Amino acid sequence: MNLRLINLSKIFYSIRGKIKAVNNVNLEIQAGEFFVILGPSGCGKSTLLNLIAGLEKPTSGEIYFGENLIASKEKNVFIPPKDRNIAMVFQNYALYPHLSVFENIAFPLKIQKMDKDKIKKEVEKVAEMLNIKDLLTARPAELSGGQKQRVAIARALVRKPSVFLLDEPLSNLDAQLRISARAEIKSLQKELGITTIYVTHDQVEAMSLGKRIAVMRDGKIEQVGTPEELYKNPKNIFIAQFIGRIPMNLFVVDVVEDKSSAYGLIKDLKIKIPDEKRHLIKDKKIVIGIRPEDLFINPEKADYVFLGETKLVESWGREKLIYVKFGEYNFKILSKDEIFEKKIKIGFNQKNLYFFENIESRNQICMGLTIS
Ligand code: ATP
Repeated sequence: MNLRLINLSKIFYSIRGKIKAVNNVNLEIQAGEFFVILGPSGCGKSTLLNLIAGLEKPTSGEIYFGENLIASKEKNVFIPPKDRNIAMVFQNYALYPHLSVFENIAFPLKIQKMDKDKIKKEVEKVAEMLNIKDLLTARPAELSGGQKQRVAIARALVRKPSVFLLDEPLSNLDAQLRISARAEIKSLQKELGITTIYVTHDQVEAMSLGKRIAVMRDGKIEQVGTPEELYKNPKNIFIAQFIGRIPMNLFVVDVVEDKSSAYGLIKDLKIKIPDEKRHLIKDKKIVIGIRPEDLFINPEKADYVFLGETKLVESWGREKLIYVKFGEYNFKILSKDEIFEKKIKIGFNQKNLYFFENIESRNQICMGLTIS
């Protein structure tokens, strides 16, 4: 089933004043899609998910499940959560401590007044799928974090929901378990083909799970795209810094123009600003971005080369994260090469450069993100 959110907003009124937790969001999620909502803490991800689940009522706008309108303040429509055929898994799993794993998973079917034999069959089937058949008699307190998380997923899926909602379900797991749980969720979703919306603040998780990702900031959707689209064509500085293993190097630079071309100056490097990016120049300034993985050490050939001073090297196994200074500019470089000298030759190519408008960088500086 596909989902449509139209001009959807949720405003909270609190002691802090008026908070636009979800601000005029428009989204279409395809049937069977694995869709991820990604954004920093407090950007409105959970509120958006709660609106879809029916745990919150919209202040304005509409939500459609397929052709059915399920929430609209203007049209006075609100279908309660129990009638939306959704299942939700939260960060804290919310298992009933006094019930066994079997009883926890069976709970939603019991409420539906399903026949006892059928319940047993359905619970065993889903337990088999999630590899927790041996745990059916245990109580939640006896389980590890990873096992609890599987039970919560089993309980959500046993009802065969049309929409599966997950709110940071892996946050309580250790790093290794997160990776295996992530892979399990992905293959389970593929197998079942349920429309799935997954909320996270972890961009690695988002990139590895989502067929498409919506990046949120301050209640708004900043960009929607496949992981590759977001990585290759970030719409603004916020996305550029948020997507990618290590934030992009960004520099607010002065621009010089001659008759035919414009250049951004990184110290004495004269970086060509492509004609189609010249509209981004504001007050003779532009922001130039380059990803740490697109900088090369001792390049044989590169469009731009400079001599940087190594400040710090972090070993990441096969790769190193190298902090380099070039005048007042600080670069992060991700490289497999060994560094022996304090002064190193660094190169990069025109095709790997990003250009953004300076006005956004000021917003980013206000948000405390680092820009050299
Ligand atoms: P996190 O990743 O930390 O869970 P989030 O992106 O899920 O954050 P939300 O929980 O949706 O963010 O909150 C969005 C904004 O709305 C925040 O400023 C939050 O303080 C505010 N908010 C959420 N629920 C309420 C509420 N019931 N009353 C008042 N403000 C709220």
